Amino acid sequence: MSARMSESRATRAPGTNAERIPVALAEGDGIGPEITAAVCAVLDAAGARVAFQPITVGEQCFLDGVTSGIPQDAWDAIREHRVLLKGPITTPQGGGYKSLNVTLRKALGLFANVRPCRAWHPWVDTRHPDMDLVIVRENEEDTYAGIEHRQTPEVTQCLKLISEPGSERLIRYAFELAKSQGRDTVHCLTKDNIMKVTDGLFHRTFDRIAADYPGIDAKHMIIDIGTALLADRPEMFDVVVAPNLYGDIVSDVAAQITGSVGLGGSANIGEGFAMFEAVHGSAPDIAGQDVANPSGLLLAAIEMLRYLGDTSTAETIHNAWLATLADGLHTADLYREGRSRRKLGTRAFGEAVIDRLGTRPDGDVRKGKGATQGALPRAEDSWPRAEARPDKVLHGVDVFLDWDTNDRNPDVLGRRLETLAEGTAFDLVIVTNRGVKVYPDGIPETRCTDHWRCRFRTPDGDGVGHREILDLLAKFEAAGLDFIKTENLYTFDGERGYSMGQGE
Ligand code: NAD
Repeated sequence: MSARMSESRATRAPGTNAERIPVALAEGDGIGPEITAAVCAVLDAAGARVAFQPITVGEQCFLDGVTSGIPQDAWDAIREHRVLLKGPITTPQGGGYKSLNVTLRKALGLFANVRPCRAWHPWVDTRHPDMDLVIVRENEEDTYAGIEHRQTPEVTQCLKLISEPGSERLIRYAFELAKSQGRDTVHCLTKDNIMKVTDGLFHRTFDRIAADYPGIDAKHMIIDIGTALLADRPEMFDVVVAPNLYGDIVSDVAAQITGSVGLGGSANIGEGFAMFEAVHGSAPDIAGQDVANPSGLLLAAIEMLRYLGDTSTAETIHNAWLATLADGLHTADLYREGRSRRKLGTRAFGEAVIDRLGTRPDGDVRKGKGATQGALPRAEDSWPRAEARPDKVLHGVDVFLDWDTNDRNPDVLGRRLETLAEGTAFDLVIVTNRGVKVYPDGIPETRCTDHWRCRFRTPDGDGVGHREILDLLAKFEAAGLDFIKTENLYTFDGERGYSMGQGE
């Protein structure tokens, strides 16, 4: 062991059982049991004031017929203790199994997924020694609502849901986190140049909330260039807030470029519940080989101790972990000839951290942006509601059709629908195929599927009731046209609540 500064051993005196905070513990699948054992050994040796209650969730539960992967006794323990440390879970392929992670996040209202990603230069090789950012990813909405349908033989659909209250409390949490950690910039990433209604709502909410935090620089970027810049120049980012899918992708990118995806820890924060886990998955390719890096789960556990108020143990473990890296003791994913001193397996790495409890590394890790590495802020008990509901006017309907006759000629369909609309409250405005206008005045080069969106609106934008839509659908039915779904077209306080078709 190299020379290191010594800390007071008193900081890691084990607490008595009475002082220990109960926490549910799921070891997970694949590499989960190995990394969880290593992490628990470190917490135990450091005297962390937690008492783990092991629960079984995941792959075996799925295969035993528990459709959520979470048996009742596990739910009971999680709901009782309100804090969960969780190893990665394998979702079995096929068979329609739902992701257990998504179930837990949504059922417990864990709306913010916080993923700190920082370089540990000079002890871990990275091309980005100054990177130190936190990704705050929305955790319950977006395409992860998992509402999908096959609508025609050719076309499937996934519903993307973005709510204003859901966006608001996530974005507010991101600004609160920036404030509490002394971070001065929050970047919002969306694709609102394309998804003007859903991502547009997230972006507008970001702008609105940002006004409450004048000391913090609020910036928006389109997700594609934002991801590219984050991969190339991560040091320009500080706090990043994003809807679920984008946040999922950029956080793996960010975790990987710190040196290894195995270094990423994450916290899922809700009102009264919290779940801590590694960013990475169950890595079946290296499971059972004692080679996985337990650092991601260890960093998540450190974040959990801070959350529970056991700050001194959190710092003791963090320093010991840094000392281990500084001594060149690396798991296979971090090992580099010349820079590393020894390659260690999962268990040996955990033991090396234990050996260094009470020490800190010589020298300092490159100073990051977060001036305060304190506990994550608690989630506010709020689901913001607007004071008055806007005036909602129904003035049209998109009728989606499964139509595969007449060589899929859009002009044949369009003319037929114009005739069909006669005598109803609506005019046919446009027919699109995969969002592109094909009638009227489409171009023959547009390749058409069997899935058609037929937009009907009242001639002067006047409001109608459901009755008028049912009358229109009755005409579809009588004409033998197979409508597969409808979407009502509303204005809210006079503002259009739906996107225009491309070319409309
Ligand atoms: P993965 O993160 O498990 O693995 C991706 C790559 O990173 C693999 O090469 C793996 O060996 C490596 N890797 C991951 N963790 C590592 C570690 N700690 N140390 C060293 N190398 C590590 O992603 P995947 O292969 O796409 O997914 C495998 C399974 O994990 C799937 O069933 C997936 O659904 C699940 N998954 C679970 C979670 C979770 O529980 N939070 C997250 C992501 C994926």
